[in-house]
Parts: sequence; structure tokens; C-alpha cells
Amino acid sequence: MSQGLPAPRANAYRDAWNGDLNADAAGTEHRVAGWVHRRRDHGGLIFIDLRDRTGLLQLVIDPDAGADIFTAAEKLRSEHVISVSGVVEKRGAEHVNPNLPTGEIELRVTSLDLLAEADTPPFPVDEDTKVSEENRLKYRAVDLRRSGLRDALILRSQITHAMREDLSAQGYLEVETPVLTRSTPEGARDFLVPSRFSPGNFYALPQSPQLFKQLLMVGGLERYYQIARCFRDEDLRADRQPEFTQLDIEMSFVTEDDVIAEIERLMTKVFEVGGLDVAPAPWPRLNYDESMLRFGNDRPDLRFGLEIKDVSDALSGSEFKVFESVLASGGVVRAINAGQREFPRKELDNLNEIAKRHGGKAVAWAFVQEDGTWRSPIAKFLGEEKTAAANVVLEASPGDLLVFVGDQAKVAAPVLSALRLHFAEYFDLIPEGQHSITWVVDFPMFEHNDDEGRWDAIHHPFTAPTGDLSDPGSLRSRAYDLVVDGTELGGGSIRIHDPAVQSRVFEILGISPEEADDRFGFLLDALRFGAPPHGGIAFGIDRIVATCAGRDSIRDVIAFPKTATGADPLTGAPDPVGERQLKELGLRNLVAAPPAAG
Ligand code: ASP
Repeated sequence: MSQGLPAPRANAYRDAWNGDLNADAAGTEHRVAGWVHRRRDHGGLIFIDLRDRTGLLQLVIDPDAGADIFTAAEKLRSEHVISVSGVVEKRGAEHVNPNLPTGEIELRVTSLDLLAEADTPPFPVDEDTKVSEENRLKYRAVDLRRSGLRDALILRSQITHAMREDLSAQGYLEVETPVLTRSTPEGARDFLVPSRFSPGNFYALPQSPQLFKQLLMVGGLERYYQIARCFRDEDLRADRQPEFTQLDIEMSFVTEDDVIAEIERLMTKVFEVGGLDVAPAPWPRLNYDESMLRFGNDRPDLRFGLEIKDVSDALSGSEFKVFESVLASGGVVRAINAGQREFPRKELDNLNEIAKRHGGKAVAWAFVQEDGTWRSPIAKFLGEEKTAAANVVLEASPGDLLVFVGDQAKVAAPVLSALRLHFAEYFDLIPEGQHSITWVVDFPMFEHNDDEGRWDAIHHPFTAPTGDLSDPGSLRSRAYDLVVDGTELGGGSIRIHDPAVQSRVFEILGISPEEADDRFGFLLDALRFGAPPHGGIAFGIDRIVATCAGRDSIRDVIAFPKTATGADPLTGAPDPVGERQLKELGLRNLVAAPPAAG
């Protein structure tokens, strides 16, 4: 059985998969079908590598097979579709191909049917040829024949199957929720769909099934999951898709520990199927504040050290004005000991660029000398006593490169996070094949948006807070994220099930009672009819599969993805619509481009 495929039902096209045939089948007759991967003419014989989903099989056609067959074989071109029958024969020892599962045998063809001809493909169906992504997306049917994408989709299917199998065995009900709906605030812009029945009104595509899954819990379904499509109209950063797939889960009468235990069981199986070698559960739980301090972000990559240390105390009270003014205004001075490294001058300058890209101003640096003093532009201002104290905090030894950022903690953290990741890459510190996994817990509930003078929810507004509701800045949330190799694979929380608390959270977020009623009245109503304590989580399936498959881009594990600008080169979406259609929807096109005819 290849890739979970049972032997095919014998018919006019095939009775075996290519990949299933091996030396055990020698001497038996078989019919196989697929695409001509490669044809070679050799000393009067024609060799064809025949490809189906399960792999390649070598066919041999000799002139004795009959003139018709031989002539037909001579005309075969790459990607023609054929069905052939013949006898499985062992190859001579010198012709065995150890790199091919079927490399010990070949099929000596006795009949050949040409089922379809193929134009010359836009690119060769192999992994060696570098093909532009635009072409791979435009000719996706051809790209799907290449083993890289095919294997990724096989893995993806195995992973989603494992999810369904595990959750279904634990009594989770798979429930579908609407795609035409109202806004679900997950922090992105909504995709809108105009309504023809109610011109001027719009559906929003769901950013997640969040509110529906909560209603399912109020409805008493206890345990829910769904492999759900989510839509977020975000500025597409390198590896985002406007539509993506989540494994969405919710359960009732649970605490954080229950959800985490459920997920550790489930994800252990998923990682096993995905071939991702992570530490056995239970996985560590890292507090948000600690993560921000030690790694500069809330999705720490723990595969390497270079932890951030706070040297505010060690360095305060010096002559160095920059640090002094930062500290006086409530800021911090934090540093990374990058270790004994060669680091050219121009790379030191580049660190400032990195700092600026991540919202900071500058980076100070020092090399620790034999006697423990620093070679650094700031050494003389800090003085030996302070630098010695910083050496202790940073566990610095001679030869070490130290980098410092002085700023408000909110600014210093992302800058140091970026520097840490930059060093890991520059010094090649991430061990091949090794993975790190951790929960991040105990998040703040809100973050102050200084630009707009309001509070934003760090997760979403349905996350249960803990603490004093009258002091938004001090509230923590009952949220948890699962982070692998510095990427958040999933996140969730225990939810608010008390309508009064939910209303208060809306109020803190600046949503008036009228607006709350208008946008979320259906949720508040449901909460008033007796809501159980409940919580859940959602995982990005694209990201999980990419991590398991060792791919950098989620586009490599999605059958039909969009480009980084949200376009679909395959179908040409998005495209203009005709005047008539716009009129039916009560819309007018204000963009200069002429609408399509029709
Ligand atoms: N709805 C959340 C999200 O999409 C996940 C959750 O809280 O369960 O990120």
C-alpha cells in the first residue's frame, strides 16, 4: 500500500500503483497508468519513467513488442498520459537504481494506450529546475505533479486526518459555521461581500469562527472542532495569506489546564504524524513578561541562547547621557552577550539599521578585552566600575561581543528580539533538525495604543480577564499560545461567560453599549441565557504543515495559494465585475479602471 492507497480496482487503465511494484512482483503481469516523466532511447530500446502519485516505474519497450507499440512509444513526449500492461522483470544487477523504490524492477511493455497528449509543459516536472513562483501558481496543475508540492499535500492530508481522528475519538463534534456572516474582531480588516437582497448591506467573511464556537458552547455541545477557513484583509507580510485554515477548537466547563492537557495530547499525535521531533509533553509554560524580557517577544525561539539581560541597574548613574536619560524617563538598558565572535565593523553599523527597522534608534556595542575592560565607544563614559558590573550580569568573558539597547521597554524588546534573531542567523546558531516548543501564558489583557489613546485587546475581546476590571492596564488574561521554533502555531483562551464582564471589556475597548449591542448583541444575548465556563484554541494548519515539512513558506503547503499581494495568477482573481452586476448589488465603481463588460 502506497501512501495509504489501497490497491486500485483493476480496470481498463490500471491494476497496480507504480510505487507498489517491486521485486516480489517479478514475473507477474500488470497494467499501470500515469504520465510520461522521461523517455530515453537506448540501443534500440525505449525506456520510459512512468509517474503516478505513488512514484516512478521504469517501462522498457523493445522492438519485439511489435511495430505498433514501438512506433507509438517513439512518439511519446513528456507528460503524455498512457496506460500500459506488461510483465514485471528484475533488472540486471548493474541496472538497479538504489535511489528509486521501484529501482530493482522494470515493466516490459506488451500493450500501450495513449490516453492524452500534452503540450510542452511550462516547466519540467522535476525538483531540480528552479521555477518562478508566478509560474508555479499560474500552472498549478503542472506544479502539483512535482514531488515537492505533492508530498507537502500528502503530509497535510495526513495531519488533518490525524486531527480529525483524535478529536472525534474524544467526542468533539465537527460543526461548520457560516462564511457569510458579520465581523469577528481578530484585529484585521474584514473582507466584505455585498448583499443583492439587501443592497447597500454587506456580509463580512469571518476572521475566525470565534463567536459561533462560543454560541455552540452556550448551546450545550460541550466539545467542538472545525477545520475552518478564516479570512483577514491584512497587509500581506511575507508569509501571510488572505484566506488561511485553522483547526478551531472549543470546550465547556474547562480551565486553562484542561485545554492545555487536551492540546498536548492532540498535538503530540499531530507532530508524530508530521515527523516533527519536539520534546515530550507537558511542555514548558513561559510567562509573557519573562518572554518579553528574555527574548524580546511573545513567541520565543528557544533553539539557541543569546538571552537578553537587563543591565539597567548595573549601568545606571554613569556619565553616559543617552542611557541616563532613558533610565530617568522610566526606560531600560538591556543587552545581549553574543559570545566570542568575529564581527566586522560594517556589521556593527548594520545593527543600527536593524534597530531602526524595528522602531528603535541605535545599538551600542562593546568587545570585552583580556583584562575585562571594554573596547567600545561608550566605555569611557560608563567607567570601569559600571562595565564590570554589567560583565557580571552578562556573564561576559574576554573576547565576547556585547550589544546594548537603551529605550522604553516597549521599544527595546522588539529591537533586541530582532538583534537576537539576526545573530542566530548570522552566526548560524540554529541547529538543523532541532525544535523548541513552549506555551506562553499570563498575557496582559490590554495594551495601550498610545497613538490612538485607547486600549487594544492583546488577544480578542472575548478572552477572560483576571484582576481588577477598574484598572485595565493591570489586567491579565487567561490566554495561552503554543510556540514552536519562534512561531506561534496556535493560541486561545478561557472566554468571558459573564455578560456583565463582557460588557465591561467592550466599554474598556471604547465600544459604546449601543455599538456593542449592534455588533455583538447576539453574543451578549446568548451569554444571558446561561453560558457555561468555556475556552478553546485555534491552530494555523498552514503553518503547522509548513513547520513539519520544513518549508519556509506556507504557500508551499497550500494547494492553491495567492501571491504575496493577494492575487491568484491561476484564475486571475481578483478581477473587475460588470456594470450590471454592480448595479444589482447597489454598488458604483469609483476606481478609474474600466469595469469588465457584461
Ligand atoms: N479565535 C482565535 C484566533 O483566531 C483563537 C481562539 O481564541 O480560539 O486567533
